[in-house]
Amino acid sequence: MLPYETIQEAGISLGRNLTFAETVWFTYSARKSDYILYCHNTLFLFLFYSLIPLPYMFIELIRSKNTEKFKIQPKFKNSFSDMFKCYRKVMVTFVFVVGPLQLFSFPIIERVGIRTGLPLPSGSEMFWQLLVYFVVEDYANYWLHRLLHSKWGYEKIHRVHHEYTAPIGFAAPYAHWAEILVLGFASFLGPLMVPGHMITFWLWMILRQFEAIETHSGYDFPWSPAKYIPFYGGSIYHDYHHYVGGKSQSNFASVFTYCDYIYGTNKGYRYQKEVFDKTREKFRSEGGQNAESYLFSMQALKSE
Ligand SMILES: [Zn+2]
Ligand SMILES: [Zn+2]
Repeated sequence: MLPYETIQEAGISLGRNLTFAETVWFTYSARKSDYILYCHNTLFLFLFYSLIPLPYMFIELIRSKNTEKFKIQPKFKNSFSDMFKCYRKVMVTFVFVVGPLQLFSFPIIERVGIRTGLPLPSGSEMFWQLLVYFVVEDYANYWLHRLLHSKWGYEKIHRVHHEYTAPIGFAAPYAHWAEILVLGFASFLGPLMVPGHMITFWLWMILRQFEAIETHSGYDFPWSPAKYIPFYGGSIYHDYHHYVGGKSQSNFASVFTYCDYIYGTNKGYRYQKEVFDKTREKFRSEGGQNAESYLFSMQALKSE
């Protein structure tokens, strides 16, 4: 809740006129409690995990020649009911685990000082904070994920997420409830260490959802803007982790590639990627036969 009655009052307090974005924020948030603003995250969780995977779902259902060449493991096909089952399970976990956790974690957010007032953060403040959140999350996620690949962690918890050897967008948060709690902690670390504005916090959660769905989509589209992010892992990178499954000692990081590089857990992937690039090159030099429907089949690479 903002401590001003009117926009004029807010302007006097800031010593200047409100920008357009600040006026919109004032109009939207002035009468809402900080708790309600924080609860928007729960709404975004349900909304974005329902909406972002939809285009991938239609692409998977249609499986046209135009998109088939971007499918990472073309041998796997998912029907509507397969995908809906996955979605339903994810939503049940959200209702019983993630939602309540978000609603009850407000005192922590309040204590660390995530602010809701004016002025709004500048573009550069948001950029640097989001970068820190991504790097911190990626590092923590790398080690927690690696721990989940211990014998006990895998059998008791992480096995559920690996039920998909060829992931789909809806399967990004498909996991044992304990895994969602453990890895969810990594998402909170950045904002706890470098608290910013509630808008930055919302944006962080939404971008993280976009990233998780894209890396689990099962498709590698060359026009994805994420390709321009330095050290970004992307869908082929994480698909490989799912393909290898429980025995995987490769590609643990959630967003970037540097942790796997530093700790030497990308060797298997690097070898396979090299073979894959050569195979694709061969396909292209032979006039592209089969290349359109055969982007990345690990089964074929294994038999090389
Ligand atoms: Zn894993
Ligand atoms: Zn995954």
